[in-house]
Amino acid sequence: MARPDNKRKKGRGFKKRKICRFCQNHAEWVDYKDIETLRTFITERGKIIPRRISGTCARHQRQLALSIKRARNIALMPFIAE
Ligand SMILES: [Zn+2]
Repeated sequence: MARPDNKRKKGRGFKKRKICRFCQNHAEWVDYKDIETLRTFITERGKIIPRRISGTCARHQRQLALSIKRARNIALMPFIAE
């Protein structure tokens, strides 16, 4: 008797787990001075990676965007990477 394989997740998107990194680390706020972390959320061109790709939750994504902008303003980060 064949049974339906319903344990399988449909779709193919399991490349990256959609878990917010900041929530995982129990971070309450995204530190704009933490360049190492911020850097992982921007592309080579210096653009912010959208949350559907990074998996960051809405709350932290907002903070992240703010932090990156702040970091740019105080010249910790480039607007456009060369
Ligand atoms: Zn989060």
